[in-house]
Amino acid sequence: MTAAAYCGRCGLAVADAVHETCLRQLELEPPRYCPACRRRLVVQVMPDRWIARCAEHGATTASTWAGS
Ligand SMILES: [Zn+2]
Ligand SMILES: [Zn+2]
Repeated sequence: MTAAAYCGRCGLAVADAVHETCLRQLELEPPRYCPACRRRLVVQVMPDRWIARCAEHGATTASTWAGS
């Protein structure tokens, strides 16, 4: 994986802003923007995971609320 250029939550360039709160939020909810190209992601939320899909870069899946 390449380093993220954009914040997955606010969509701003990672280098341009402080994303401490964003990073914290991203532990709890799916990203909204593709970190590589800043496109809006199509996010599908399921009871135990989410899928965030970028038209260019494909889907990212993560289990979020899986508990322990
Ligand atoms: Zn951010
Ligand atoms: Zn992308």
